[in-house]
Amino acid sequence: MLDDILDYAEHIRERPVWQPIPEEVRAKFQQGLPQGEGDLAAVHQQFMQDILPYSVGNSHPGFMGWVQGGGNPVGTLAEMLAAGLNANLGGRDHIPIDVERQVSRWVSTLFGFPESASGLFVTGTSMANFIAVLVARSVALGTEVRKTGLASYEQRLVAYTSAGAHGCIAQAMDIAGIGRDALRMIPMTSQFEMDTALLREAIAADRAAGLTPFFIAGTAGSVDVGAIDDLTTLAEIAAQEKIWFHIDGAFGALAMLSPELAPRLAGIERADSVAFDFHKWMQVPYDAGFILVRNREAHLATFSAPVGYLRRETRGLAGGSPWPCDFGPDLSRGFRALKTWFTLQVYGTERLGQMIAHTCELAQYLKQQVEENPKLELLAPVNLNIVCFRYRSERIADLDALNADIVVALHEGGICAPSTTFIRGQLAIRAAIVNHRTRAENIDALINATIAQGDLLVQSAQ
Ligand SMILES: *Cc1c(COP(=O)(O)O)cnc(C)c1O
Repeated sequence: MLDDILDYAEHIRERPVWQPIPEEVRAKFQQGLPQGEGDLAAVHQQFMQDILPYSVGNSHPGFMGWVQGGGNPVGTLAEMLAAGLNANLGGRDHIPIDVERQVSRWVSTLFGFPESASGLFVTGTSMANFIAVLVARSVALGTEVRKTGLASYEQRLVAYTSAGAHGCIAQAMDIAGIGRDALRMIPMTSQFEMDTALLREAIAADRAAGLTPFFIAGTAGSVDVGAIDDLTTLAEIAAQEKIWFHIDGAFGALAMLSPELAPRLAGIERADSVAFDFHKWMQVPYDAGFILVRNREAHLATFSAPVGYLRRETRGLAGGSPWPCDFGPDLSRGFRALKTWFTLQVYGTERLGQMIAHTCELAQYLKQQVEENPKLELLAPVNLNIVCFRYRSERIADLDALNADIVVALHEGGICAPSTTFIRGQLAIRAAIVNHRTRAENIDALINATIAQGDLLVQSAQ
């Protein structure tokens, strides 16, 4: 099994990125609950035949859809060790938790946070943003809110983020019980950054209406175009207004690993909390999200809940308090820290930073190819590693439908897999270069396949 999975990564270039799933393969996953014992070798064979070839393909160098990391072999091996160790990182006194705390201190240093900041591995940035909303809520209203709920307060909380922010911020407001309507989507500048003048106006209008602004979520690396909000100005506004300043840096925060890119994130060191993923730009195998909170006490006061069966001791196995379960909603927690710790130790921050900077260079190369080709059109500035463009033709009225069809054809062709989004109302082919395996030849393949598919679709429409 180990050989097979390492061979898979080694030879992934020779495979299609993704391939349509035959009905007979899908049907095999309708079988009922097994009763008797099975043969391990046969189950492994099933994996090789029916699962591995039909996975999403984000490890493939031609995968450029959404924002997905490519994984790495060191992380694969560490995950095997973590599964064998079977540590539960909810709490108690064991070194796996020290590994998590060490990774937390490493990222505190990287982001210019104090060493006392608290950090927690979570599934992903969606969960990390949710935790940040809850901590900011208990800071704004007091921890009593955990007992009485929002309904017992006269204050109506309101939050702010960019119109280009990820949808999970609205979802965090929703599942925190504050509601999506209480999230102001501040319009963006021509550079796709939150318009900070409009943010000031919105806060003033809400205060005048008797509402309680409590949370500003800046974005470092927006999902559509990779834009970075003006974090320094956001930090100033938040400080003046005494509002919690959070950053959704799902993929972008780890640009701090690259000395060339790090200055673009100036202001991150002033945030109250940062949500980000090790599983995107840093290539740790899924999943490895993280929440970092400057004020450890506020973080702890939001989640810790003494119960008899989780009693702490100053010595022995039940020592080591506070436990990770005191900083988030999960009690049972796997050893996500290990694959992250291995990845950081084996590759080092210099090489990881270079890899991140290289994906941005490839994005610039793609941008240049798009600009030089009269059949293609760039739809947004290229800030980091994301390029939004489209195929154009005077002979087709509905360019949105044409470009959506091109992307489906690219997926089914198996050479490259961009995704789509809307940029100022126009459907864009969106290529996010996240994978460390992607090379210039994959960019060329994307350009050539896009033009070939576009030409073909235009011809067949005549
Ligand atoms: C991917 C992403 C998220 C969501 O992160 P998950 O790890 O998928 O939960 C949030 N914000 C941005 C900007 C992202 O790119």
